[in-house]
Amino acid sequence: MTAQTEILDDPNYIPVLDHGFAGLVDHLGDDFAITRAARVSYGAGTKKVSEDRGLIRYLMRHQHTSPLEMCSFIFHLKMPIFVARQHIRHRMANLNEYSGRYSIMSDEFYIPDLDQIKPQSSDNKQGRAGEVDDVSKHGVQWIMQTNQELAYQAYQTLLGDRQAGEDHYDCYSESDPLLAGDFPGIARELARTVLPVSNYTEMYWKSDLNNLFKYLKLRTDAHAQYEIRVLADAIYTLIQPIVPMACEAFEDYMRQSATLSRMEVALLRKLLEGLAVDEATGSEFGLSKRELADFRQRFA
Ligand SMILES: Cc1cc2nc3c(=O)[nH]c(=O)nc-3n(C[C@H](O)[C@H](O)[C@H](O)COP(=O)(O)OP(=O)(O)OC[C@H]3O[C@@H](n4cnc5c(N)ncnc54)[C@H](O)[C@@H]3O)c2cc1C
Repeated sequence: MTAQTEILDDPNYIPVLDHGFAGLVDHLGDDFAITRAARVSYGAGTKKVSEDRGLIRYLMRHQHTSPLEMCSFIFHLKMPIFVARQHIRHRMANLNEYSGRYSIMSDEFYIPDLDQIKPQSSDNKQGRAGEVDDVSKHGVQWIMQTNQELAYQAYQTLLGDRQAGEDHYDCYSESDPLLAGDFPGIARELARTVLPVSNYTEMYWKSDLNNLFKYLKLRTDAHAQYEIRVLADAIYTLIQPIVPMACEAFEDYMRQSATLSRMEVALLRKLLEGLAVDEATGSEFGLSKRELADFRQRFA
């Protein structure tokens, strides 16, 4: 597995979390590849840089996204397995991941920084919010680290390394051994099952720009889990110099844009007419308390 220290001097890589990284190893196309493909729809004619920018913004505004697929990016990514589980839900991508059947899993595990250790959010079932006291934060890190070390010792023991886990997994007497003296170890594909999802994995991951923007919209959002958000932020930083106009349009028409429900459109019309919004007004427009709060949060 590639160590984070190996990529630190490479300008095409950005360190992510305690052992991970995002690296851009190859790409096809740039802003010009997008406009060149788009002009096949609209005929030749406009060709100045300023017109390229306008054309890309037009495409993005009207969700004419197929020209974006003329650009592709290949990334080298390293992340904890629980982040990879979220990452690979974005199916319109190609990937090849480190094999725990073929290779030994690394002894690198994610431990959150102190400022990321927070309680379960009470109003968002998929998030963290509030504060944990400082003593407990260190305790949380200790519990995580101890558990990870124990799990890795179990992994090594199952692979046949008797010394690795002798404190915990070889403690039976000679007359009643836990594992026979000549235990050969079990296959890597089985032994790995004792490792937690904080264990690191790495992959090559290829995406075209259309699907990458969908990924970035969801995973750079403030509501995305912090650990995938920092990975997505790094990926976004790496592509910006290659497709600056497309990224500018993405910011304006996708990333920082908001869609409105039918009820919100009706409410917004009333607001523009000068109506004050309270909860009664929200329910009048078919918005629940939660929906009204979301609406306020987006436009406050
Ligand atoms: C906040 C949040 C919470 C989530 N929670 C969960 C969860 O609890 N459990 C869970 O399993 N996932 C969860 N996901 C993942 C989510 O359901 C999507 O799978 C993920 O965001 C990928 O989105 P996508 O399908 O648009 O992207 P991609 O898979 O990259 O697909 C891109 C586009 O291709 C098309 N497409 C791809 N595959 C198909 C298909 N099979 N059929 C038809 N069209 C397709 C769609 O138009 C899609 O928008 C969560 C995502 C977020 C952002």
